Amino acid sequence: MSQAFLDQVTHFARGRVAPEAAAWSIGAAPDPALYREAAALGLLGVEVPEEKGGKGFGFATRAAALEVLAGADFGFAMSLVNTHNIALRLCEAGQDAAAARYLPALLSGRMHACTALTERGTGSDFAAIRTTARQVAGGWELEGEKAWIINGRQAGLSIVYAQCAEVGDSSGIAAFLVDLNAPGVTRYAIDSAFAQTSLGTGGFHLSGVKLPLEAMLAAPGTAFKAILQEINVARTYVAAMCDGMMQAALDSAAAYGAERCSFGKPLNAIPRWQTEFEAAQTALMQARTATRQAVEKVTQGADAQLAAAEAKIGSVSCAQTHLPRLLQLMGAEGLRPEHPFTRHIAAAQIAGFTDGATNILKDRVARLTARKET
Ligand SMILES: Cc1cc2nc3c(=O)[nH]c(=O)nc-3n(C[C@H](O)[C@H](O)[C@H](O)COP(=O)(O)OP(=O)(O)OC[C@H]3O[C@@H](n4cnc5c(N)ncnc54)[C@H](O)[C@@H]3O)c2cc1C
Repeated sequence: MSQAFLDQVTHFARGRVAPEAAAWSIGAAPDPALYREAAALGLLGVEVPEEKGGKGFGFATRAAALEVLAGADFGFAMSLVNTHNIALRLCEAGQDAAAARYLPALLSGRMHACTALTERGTGSDFAAIRTTARQVAGGWELEGEKAWIINGRQAGLSIVYAQCAEVGDSSGIAAFLVDLNAPGVTRYAIDSAFAQTSLGTGGFHLSGVKLPLEAMLAAPGTAFKAILQEINVARTYVAAMCDGMMQAALDSAAAYGAERCSFGKPLNAIPRWQTEFEAAQTALMQARTATRQAVEKVTQGADAQLAAAEAKIGSVSCAQTHLPRLLQLMGAEGLRPEHPFTRHIAAAQIAGFTDGATNILKDRVARLTARKET
């Protein structure tokens, strides 16, 4: 892990992202210049090889950087990593032409990118997607709609999952690289009462979008299995990001608890206040242990299915339980947008949906544990 890089990211997160994020929790969108600053630090290419213009670090550094960034703003960190994921994918063998075309824009923060599985009618039941890919002379034609996509409102490039066979046939699903500025694509924004404008959530319609043959990144029969593997990486960094939000909330509550007096003594001298604070600290320590195990598995290239699911369940649930309690410890002051509490509480709820909803993950953990025991 590169400590010098993480120190720079910490400086950027605290000095540049956190102060701007206060406005994002009340509806403003991030300034595009901030993405370019993030890019200049290397945040859009943490794991991209140096010869392709990235930093060439490993997954542990990516997870640690995202943890720190999410402490400032989960949505901004998620937006960056979703672009990063596409940049990394373009570094795989066989993608030289696409890499030459898109990597410079992605790594410099001029273009956002996204991964589009979800549709209006289909989330957890991914095999039921209705976006179709039909083979036509010289390529493919895509028809359908994707919804609830991070960076969906501003992305220039997407990996889109589409059905090449009958709806419900997971072996018919393939992945395509789609230029979202192509004819036939119409983007739209999705607003939510949880603000989080920094996620850039949106969707797009695909009406007869023509793609060349080489736009297929993963063929039917491989795409469904591949996404189930890739998602372990995402679950692990989302766990780290929830840990980062908890740490930021603990830091804010600790500072305020030392300075604010009630009934003649600092808040942190009140036993009930201390008990709640320490319970949150202990819960974060436990969540971090599971996150570390998942990071190790991913880094080693080992089977991370169980570890990633357990880490995400643990860290999301720790954040969903303790962030509201830490806000309570702040009194009314905790509601101000310059503190991270309300933004992080909304983000913890969102983290409970993205990359596998919690109930689905709980069932998966039960199945994998039962399999291990037999
Ligand atoms: C802000 C935000 C950003 C997102 N970004 C992306 C993105 O970039 N790309 C993308 O492809 N998707 C994205 N998503 C979509 C996300 O992956 C889905 O929300 C998620 O898969 C859950 O699907 P759903 O919301 O349709 O809920 P549903 O699948 O309709 O489920 C509703 C509830 O029922 C539970 N449930 C459903 N089926 C079962 C079952 N069999 N057993 C137990 N419980 C069950 C779920 O856990 C959930 O709690 C995003 C979502 C949000 C909110």
